[in-house]
Amino acid sequence: MPGICDSFQRGIDYLRISVTDRCNLRCIYCMPSGGVPLVSHQDILSYEEILLVVRAAAEIGMNKIRITGGEPLVRAGIVDLVRMISAVEGILEISMTTNGILLHKYAGKLAEAGLQRVNISLDTMKADRFKKITRTGDLADVLEGMESAREAGLDPVKINVVPMQGINDDEIQDFARMTLEKGWHVRFIELMPLQGAAGLVPANLLRHEIEKLGTLEPHYGMAGNGAAKYYRLSGASGTVGFIEPVSEPFCNRCNRLRLSASGTLLPCLFSAEGIDVRTPLRSGSTISDIKRLLIDAVASKPEMHRLSDNCAMHTRMSGIGG
Ligand code: SAM
Ligand code: SF4
Repeated sequence: MPGICDSFQRGIDYLRISVTDRCNLRCIYCMPSGGVPLVSHQDILSYEEILLVVRAAAEIGMNKIRITGGEPLVRAGIVDLVRMISAVEGILEISMTTNGILLHKYAGKLAEAGLQRVNISLDTMKADRFKKITRTGDLADVLEGMESAREAGLDPVKINVVPMQGINDDEIQDFARMTLEKGWHVRFIELMPLQGAAGLVPANLLRHEIEKLGTLEPHYGMAGNGAAKYYRLSGASGTVGFIEPVSEPFCNRCNRLRLSASGTLLPCLFSAEGIDVRTPLRSGSTISDIKRLLIDAVASKPEMHRLSDNCAMHTRMSGIGG
């Protein structure tokens, strides 16, 4: 089935699924130190319910799935979910965004179950700083997870870095060097001013800093979903990517819907309202009914996000999955 277009002629073929609002870290820009009020277990979609949404999405031509959270690897049975999704006819690509803490345990099993690629969030290469940014957690676990992901054949493995003024902005070149020396694919994500997060380092400043190491040449053809622009430093086997939700929103290339852990379809990351699929799923809806809800969500995608208007998000990043 060919893909589905929204009202602005954007092809929508990508569904990001948050499988949990729980997390084993408390990153300073994402969660308060004490955590957030959690959705009760019975209000989180079951794997069977998620699978029905995936099947409906595939039937309307959405063929790429990303599993995210909260931290997706803290949900029991996550490997089984990957296996079930990879068996859905029409799904061509399954990826995951993770903080990497538990990845060394799961990378091989996830790859065997059908996961193709992984994005690992990592904001510093310094162990003490890692503890401060995540308020818990051990850098060594993430580093081990990165290696395990490579060994398992997940490809590409992308490292997502959120630069923050005065916190980790002295490590920009160190991260860029990882593309030269170790062939990692490193993406810099602009900090979004959510939950009081402050200290944005605009992407043009990052570029300027990285270009001190060499010329950044545009790189095309990286597997992904269009949010990042990719470059290569001369001689590097890895790439440098920039995601600029603040200074250069990628709304004109937006190709996605989001499903929150509690079963709300969100037309945009910054949608205040979404479409409830949990109630219909629990009251006997058929796959055709769910397809209709997905089509409605695609039709209600805004042309641009409203981040700059201090928009009220439907829920926290940890419930939506970034
Ligand atoms: N726990 C997983 C992780 O950290 O990769 C998946 C969920 S997390 C919400 C997904 C992504 O959102 C992470 O890369 C994280 O850095 C990013 N994120 C969270 N809050 C953000 C903010 N205020 N600005 C920019 N990125 C943010
Ligand atoms: Fe957890 Fe990811 Fe949020 Fe960090 S960014 S607190 S790892 S959900």
